[in-house]
Amino acid sequence: MSTTPTKSLADDASQVLRAVTLIRLGARMQVLESEFPKLSRDRLIRLYREVKGASPPKGMLPFSADWYLTWAPNIHASMFANVYAFLEENSKELDRVDLLSRAYGLYAEHFEMQNEPLQMDLTRAWTLVRFKEAGMLRMVGCKRCRGKFVAHSQDNNHGMVCGICQPPSRAGKTKASKIAQQEGATIQAKAA
Ligand SMILES: [Zn+2]
Repeated sequence: MSTTPTKSLADDASQVLRAVTLIRLGARMQVLESEFPKLSRDRLIRLYREVKGASPPKGMLPFSADWYLTWAPNIHASMFANVYAFLEENSKELDRVDLLSRAYGLYAEHFEMQNEPLQMDLTRAWTLVRFKEAGMLRMVGCKRCRGKFVAHSQDNNHGMVCGICQPPSRAGKTKASKIAQQEGATIQAKAA
């Protein structure tokens, strides 16, 4: 049975609007091609140019799973992952694109309110979700604050202490660590 023209038109419009939302938030072509298989590559490129006023950057995504485990990125990635998991658990009607754009929006708003530069763009956030789905990364509880943090799946993470409870010495007295402590409270609250 073929879909009515009206329905496919509405579906198409909705796909385009969702793609525009992701482009605004910083999605690169790989993200768009993967999440919107119904929209052609040419169309996605035209949308990208329209929204950003420039051609999409070429080349593969350079991100490795290790990036998420370094200090400041880990705090940011964990914050995002906690919000994502919370929305996924509590808003069953949201699909992955919705989850991604909402969780990323909340993550960005939170750190922008603290005047803290964002460590992750939307493409990195998307890659994190993919790595978790592929079983490369998982969430592990910190034994001190009990917040949940992004960790390697194959590591033995028993007794893990997070980067907020135990910041590296170079971060000791910086503004970042003060903010990180506030983040700790937020992440704990979300994990509770
Ligand atoms: Zn901790």
